[in-house]
Amino acid sequence: MKILLIAGHGQGDPGACALGYQEATLTREVVASLANKLKPYAEVEVFDTSKNMYKFLKLLTFNFKKYDYVLEVHFNAAANDKNGNGKTTGTEVLVHTSEKAVTVEQLIVNNISELGFTNRGVKLRSNLQNMNVCKGKQGVSYALVEVCFIDDLDDMKLYQAKKEEVVTAIADGILKGHGIQKQEKEIKEHKGLTSVNDIVWELSNRGILSDKALWLKKLEDDSNDYCLAKNFVEYLIEKGI
Ligand SMILES: [Zn+2]
Repeated sequence: MKILLIAGHGQGDPGACALGYQEATLTREVVASLANKLKPYAEVEVFDTSKNMYKFLKLLTFNFKKYDYVLEVHFNAAANDKNGNGKTTGTEVLVHTSEKAVTVEQLIVNNISELGFTNRGVKLRSNLQNMNVCKGKQGVSYALVEVCFIDDLDDMKLYQAKKEEVVTAIADGILKGHGIQKQEKEIKEHKGLTSVNDIVWELSNRGILSDKALWLKKLEDDSNDYCLAKNFVEYLIEKGI
C-alpha cells in the first residue's frame, strides 16, 4: 500500500490565517507527524512541502497513479469573528463525487470527532482542482481532510491539546479502512528482542529490507520466519554489525 500525503497551501500561500495561526504551517505539522505514524505499516511519500500542489497542478501534471491512496490536509475557515467566537466548528472530509466507497473517510471523520470535534461528515465535491485531477482524471482514491476550523477558538484549543490524537485518529482511519492491521502485539514466548516491530526496524535500519509493511505482515503471520529473523537480528547485534 503506497500513500501520498499532501500538505495544503504553502509556497507563498499561507492559506487561512486566524487567531495567530497559518493554515500552511498547521497542514505541514499534521502531514509530518502523520507520515511518521503511517510509515511502519505502509509506504508513505510526502509531496514536497516547499511546494503547493494546487499551484503545481496549474502548471504541470503529476502522476498520482503511483499511489493507492492520496490524502491532502487542510484546516477550514468560516469567517468566524476575529476572536474566534464562531458558530461554525468541526471536522469534515471531502471526496470526489465519483468515489465509490467512503469507508476510510467515514472512519477518519468519526475518529477525529470522537476527540470532541463536531462531526460534519464526508462530503462529495466535484469543484476542487487537486481531487479532480487525482480521482476525476487519474482514478486514484483521494480525500481532503479539513481537520477543524482555524478561526474557531474552541476548535483550535482542542486541536492544540489533542494534536497527537488527531493525527492518530487520521492514521487509524486510513489503516483500518484499508484493512491494515497495526502490528503492536508482541509474541510472548520469545525473550529479549520480541516485538515484530523491533525486528523489522533493526533490519530496515541496516538496509537489509526496505518494504517494512510487507515484512511486518510476514513475521506476524509466520512463526518460522519470525524466529529466523529474530535469531538473525540477535546475531547481528551480538557481533556489533
Ligand atoms: Zn485550505
